[in-house]
Amino acid sequence: MVTPPVGTAPTAASARIAVLGRGLVPADEPVLRADDLGVLHGDGLFESMHLRQGRPWLRDEHLARLATAAAAVDLELPPVDALIDLLDTVRAGWPATVEGALRLVCTRGSEAGGPPTVYATVNPVPASSQAARRNGITVAILPLGVPAGARTGLDWLPAGIKSTSYAVNSAARRWARRAGVDDVLWVSSDGYALEGPIANVVWLTGDTLCTVPAATTGILPGTTAAWLLAHADELGLDGSERMVTPAELHAADGVWFSSSVRGLAEVRMLDGVRREPCPRTPALHALLGFPVD
Ligand code: PLP
Repeated sequence: MVTPPVGTAPTAASARIAVLGRGLVPADEPVLRADDLGVLHGDGLFESMHLRQGRPWLRDEHLARLATAAAAVDLELPPVDALIDLLDTVRAGWPATVEGALRLVCTRGSEAGGPPTVYATVNPVPASSQAARRNGITVAILPLGVPAGARTGLDWLPAGIKSTSYAVNSAARRWARRAGVDDVLWVSSDGYALEGPIANVVWLTGDTLCTVPAATTGILPGTTAAWLLAHADELGLDGSERMVTPAELHAADGVWFSSSVRGLAEVRMLDGVRREPCPRTPALHALLGFPVD
């Protein structure tokens, strides 16, 4: 989180936090109890949205995914109007010219019982995300160790939720740093590409823009990938959900990682193999409306 150095007046675009029931609080003020189950067990949910022209893009899709996840883990969310008010509070006055990363967090709350802790933050989109959009990323393949259908076959296990329990995702990102790549693509033990730790994979084969189905694999149903496929026809493309192997991705006409704040980052190296830039990338960026300078 970007916090202004001590003695520096906060600017319009410096980090902000708003807490449900309290409104805006100083960005360096603690908002969680020590016994919050979000901290103790990673028991909570979150959503990250792209703040563009001061407004959260695909807000309703994010709130709908949050509501589905909350039902799956028996987490009682505040009414949707209260969540929207909270988002409006935290983004009020955010400069329209500055891209923001807006996060909405809802943890289980105190171990002693009690209401969920609900807060929202806004930070400027990191320069590294903008650079990934502009220059693309290098990606290595990383085994996830389970078959593609394993997780959705377990009726006790909530799949495809955006849980604050990101230890596995963080471990994969650390592995990527050690391996000298920007990101990883998880591959199931039966050989299918699934998703990255913070992104979905999207690829182009001929005139079809594809992503991996969430319902049968338990990956996160990405708002960005869904929107892209639903609007692919505006570029003369079809949209399709299908399973894919790394070999098929190597042969694809374009491969990207999609996520709400970074937008679309073209995969320029996959498992050590360089990929030529896809001529469709600029049009896809334009379709999604993410700035690329
Ligand atoms: N998959 C995972 C594991 C993620 O954490 C994310 C986003 O953070 C995504 C996919 C992309 O989802 P969205 O496009 O809704 O941001």
